[in-house]
Amino acid sequence: MIPREDHGISRSDISENALKVLYRLHKAGYQAYLVGGGVRDILLDQQPKDFDVATNATPEEIKNLFRNCRLIGRRFRLAHILFGRDVVEVATLRGHHAEEGDNTTAAQSKQGMLLRDNVYGTIEEDAERRDFTVNALYYDISDFSVRDFVGGMDDLEDRIIRLIGDPETRYREDPVRMLRAVRFAVKLEMDIEQDTAQPIEDLAHLLRDIPAARLYEESLKLLQSGQGLATYRMLRDYGLFEQLFPLIGEHFTEDKSSQCEQMLELVLDATDKRMANDQRINPAFLFAAMLWYPLTTRAEEIAFNSGLSYYDAFMISANDILDEQVRSTAIPRRFTAMIRDIWQNQMRLTRRTGKRAFKLLEQPKFRASFDLLEMRAELEGDDVKELASWWHVFQNADRVKKQKMVQIVNQTGGAPAKKKRRRPPRKKPRKPAQRTEE
Ligand code: ATP
Ligand code: MG
Repeated sequence: MIPREDHGISRSDISENALKVLYRLHKAGYQAYLVGGGVRDILLDQQPKDFDVATNATPEEIKNLFRNCRLIGRRFRLAHILFGRDVVEVATLRGHHAEEGDNTTAAQSKQGMLLRDNVYGTIEEDAERRDFTVNALYYDISDFSVRDFVGGMDDLEDRIIRLIGDPETRYREDPVRMLRAVRFAVKLEMDIEQDTAQPIEDLAHLLRDIPAARLYEESLKLLQSGQGLATYRMLRDYGLFEQLFPLIGEHFTEDKSSQCEQMLELVLDATDKRMANDQRINPAFLFAAMLWYPLTTRAEEIAFNSGLSYYDAFMISANDILDEQVRSTAIPRRFTAMIRDIWQNQMRLTRRTGKRAFKLLEQPKFRASFDLLEMRAELEGDDVKELASWWHVFQNADRVKKQKMVQIVNQTGGAPAKKKRRRPPRKKPRKPAQRTEE
């Protein structure tokens, strides 16, 4: 127990809503602790993302205490106390699993994965059920002390991410802990302790058993954290990235030189910069860029093997790639629709004759599509570079200049700047059969 005067947490570091929840529980006679990222980040002088509370009140008792309360979760039952858009998460202290029997509160798969984890217990037991030592520090609202049962304070000081208990067992219980180890190591600029790091490569494949919806959520936390590029690199070092994105894994090379790998670097770096500038980021754009070369590679294969037009092969490939990706990370429908638009617009951007360029400019996904074109311009041939700079000028030109630009395109034929070997020979008119999309 670290008394109030020996640690750096004061109530002014804690959000008003989290304090309200802590006090209400305390006054009703329950234990109430701030725990997890909130305590950890305050001790590190960082701004906590959210506040998590632990208590010995059961979910039903919590519900009786707060009108603005919603119980959620099956695998792990929790109470959410809602204050407008702010949510304080309240969990009942977890205990160890009984050796046998009662499978309504806890359940484990044959592989040792926890399917349900609702056995309640003491604060010491709760600490041992948490993932990393630095995440298992409790700020006690009754006396303002910090409670540390697993050496979290020392690890925080030494900047070490250390799994509590036997690492392999803990990863088998919940393989997502491997992703969390990497996420915290990058975010907190800490090292993953040796025994915690060692089993990851061998166990990375266990992520395939995790529901795709959870992995989607987790992939956003990893890549849209503000340090997406560093996180991707470390995930890759541990063989974790390709578990989330198997299609991208197929493009991995020894020296990280494939177009797909270069695109990852470009788009993650751009995402990090936008986060740093408080600009909005769109997961659809991120995934559209990350999966662009898997998409075009597949499209070329389909066109080659089937004799379909490149356009038709491209559309089939888009469906295939998205179907396969959502099996690992369940990208929501509204985003897969956007991804498809951004991809399809890459084809439309090559066709600028008549009114086409003007129409495309009005499309809601024009901006994201153009941004992808610009990134492609850094990695592909001169024709894509020319196309990107044409659109750059066109967007910013006045009406008269725009019309002039289109006129020139009309005169020169506006041949699509597509893959070189698929481009029809110069001056020969294109086969109308290839343009089935309109
Ligand atoms: P942040 O919110 O900054 O991402 P956090 O540490 O608060 O980090 P949460 O996902 O909010 O992470 O979880 C809150 C706490 O719950 C963690 O600090 C940890 O103690 C515990 N926890 C979360 N996920 C797991 C898990 N998979 N296994 C064991 N404990 C976990
Ligand atoms: Mg948290």
